[in-house]
Amino acid sequence: MSTDLKIEAVSKNYGSVSALRDINMSVERGSFLCLLGPSGCGKTTLLRIIAGFEQATAGRLLLDGTDVSGVPPHKRGFGMVFQSLALFPHMSVAQNIAYGLKLRGIDKARQRDRVEELLNVIELPTIADRPVAALSGGQRQRVAIARALAVQPKLFLLDEPLSALDAKLRENMQIELRQLQRKFGVTTVLVTHDQTEAMMLADQLVIMDHGVVRQSGAPSEVYRAPADAFVADFLGTANVVRGEVMEDGAVAFLGMRAQVKARQLQGSKVEVAIRAENIGVVEPENPERATLGRVEFVRDLGPSVESIIAVGEEKLRVRSRASEVTSLSVGQQVGLKIDPELCSFFSR
Ligand code: ATP
Repeated sequence: MSTDLKIEAVSKNYGSVSALRDINMSVERGSFLCLLGPSGCGKTTLLRIIAGFEQATAGRLLLDGTDVSGVPPHKRGFGMVFQSLALFPHMSVAQNIAYGLKLRGIDKARQRDRVEELLNVIELPTIADRPVAALSGGQRQRVAIARALAVQPKLFLLDEPLSALDAKLRENMQIELRQLQRKFGVTTVLVTHDQTEAMMLADQLVIMDHGVVRQSGAPSEVYRAPADAFVADFLGTANVVRGEVMEDGAVAFLGMRAQVKARQLQGSKVEVAIRAENIGVVEPENPERATLGRVEFVRDLGPSVESIIAVGEEKLRVRSRASEVTSLSVGQQVGLKIDPELCSFFSR
């Protein structure tokens, strides 16, 4: 039976290094939470505290309302998958999956049934007897996931489980992992530094930086309304440019002006975050253009065209649909369409 998890005011110090500061979050029963952030932000430390491998310096962990902070890892009943997978290479697939069941003294017949059921779920029914050493990367990944889920964990914890896979396989495994998690309905916490992966998997995205939570919410919500310039920059491709609040309340940036109502801005100096895909490239004469720029770099990626366009001192990364820009060339002057409604404004 899956559970819900609450993390209350958790801090962790290593000597004078403060790895986590006052972390609060709750993971709903059956939901998928991704901890996302740059290297060193503290995400692995937080996962290790949840698993019980590390003790928090302060704060507590509640599982279905019960404080489990002092419970040792093997008594928490969690399933775990790490980057290294830690499968037993000399054992067969079935033995690996049955490992946790055997430790718990489940009888042989039930072990066999459960292994069979899991092999079907991970769609590898024919490889039960193969040694793990003879499997492909993606197959091993699935076996590791099946092994962790075999014991019907209260909580499923994963630390960068897909980072050793090549891009294509990784994408497929993300979809599979999400489907498996849904099928099992297990409350899941996954650590990654890959924002696409986090967007793909999460019901709830928690963005961390330097030991604190910068923002938490549904992926689309965090993407659409980033809480600060760090989040805007970290998630997707955003341009963060400088702006100035004018006397009439409008914000001047990139040689254009916009009325900003959504957010109270303090002081006159602001930062404006504009996503690469929210900048339209048009003819300089187009009446809808907001400002002018010069193309500095163009790359046709098939479905999209990536360019860098200079507007004054600022260099903007722009992502256009291939069907929308026929020919862009370096040195060309272009008009840019920027909808202020799609920009985020932050006090500097
Ligand atoms: P990465 O993606 O690189 O693994 P991370 O976000 O998982 O990074 P953590 O491994 O949680 O980050 O580390 C957070 C901070 O705590 C870092 O500054 C790290 O150097 C420090 N830290 C982690 N473990 C220890 C330890 N055992 N002793 C001292 N400092 C540590």
